[in-house]
Amino acid sequence: MESNLLEIRNLQKTFPIRGQKFSLFGQREQMLAVDNLSFNIRKGETYGLVGESGCGKSTTGRMIVGLEKPSCGSITYEGKDLSKLNDKEFFPLRKEVQMVFQNTLSALSPRQRIVSILEDILKVHGVSDATERRDQAVKVLEKVGLSEYHYFRYPHELSGGQVQRLGIASALVIEPRLIICDEPVSALDVSIQAQILNTLLELQQDLRLSLLFISHDIGVIRYISDRIGVMYLGTLVEEAETDELFKNPLHPYTKGLFTSVPDPYIRKEKISDFSGEQPIRTNNFKGCAFCTRCPYVMDKCTERTPEFLEISHDHKVACRLYDIVE
Ligand code: SF4
Repeated sequence: MESNLLEIRNLQKTFPIRGQKFSLFGQREQMLAVDNLSFNIRKGETYGLVGESGCGKSTTGRMIVGLEKPSCGSITYEGKDLSKLNDKEFFPLRKEVQMVFQNTLSALSPRQRIVSILEDILKVHGVSDATERRDQAVKVLEKVGLSEYHYFRYPHELSGGQVQRLGIASALVIEPRLIICDEPVSALDVSIQAQILNTLLELQQDLRLSLLFISHDIGVIRYISDRIGVMYLGTLVEEAETDELFKNPLHPYTKGLFTSVPDPYIRKEKISDFSGEQPIRTNNFKGCAFCTRCPYVMDKCTERTPEFLEISHDHKVACRLYDIVE
């Protein structure tokens, strides 16, 4: 088994609740966007993070690349805790950990030609020779499937799929080892989605990249991931290798997610009451986060948060149905 490239331990991110008054004890109630989140990404693997929108997946990705500061917990990359670094200390690591966003177009300058967007990234990261910058930019554009025709166009002249290819090129051009892909195909047509996913898979194998692939779409996650973490209200409720998770889903939330996939080969279990909204989780919350929607809820589910236990090799679940310690 490959060793870990990234280790996340007990990560938490809180936000103040708007309009919230101070309590009797002077403590403001906080919303837990991410809570007690722990997982690893191994060298060369694709780890899929799946869950409904608002469950904390993107906040997790943004904390890994330093766009948000964790409230507590650690994000260890090759032995360095990224959450403790200031901007200056983080800068050299930005080269190694990059992000591809859902809406790449909004992150690009509309007045810059495509090749010069990549050249500027290289300049910021210390490539001083202009010819070298041009060669590297062209090479990476070819790798992601953009042709010479596109090099001197502006971002708004590209199609949705080509813009996402440019987003991948912008992340790749400085040769990272880990890429966080935050819903990179969710705004695209299904046929274009497949092309972009195949490009990502080819690049990952060629360059031995590690990917954290974030999506609400269980079908997309299944296609691209080696292992999957299922996230609900800021924390993981189940984790397993992809084939194992689809053959043997354990958590009621995972089983509920699978009912939404139109695939006869996915083992499904109809969960009748899985239609409500996700509640807001606060720091005063006790018990299982899924208990307001779970058809199997028991008295003991509200007493304490279920442990995240390894039930079989590399298959973990947080649910009192499997957590037999009283
Ligand atoms: Fe449902 Fe209880 Fe398991 Fe939570 S701990 S998922 S409420 S059975």
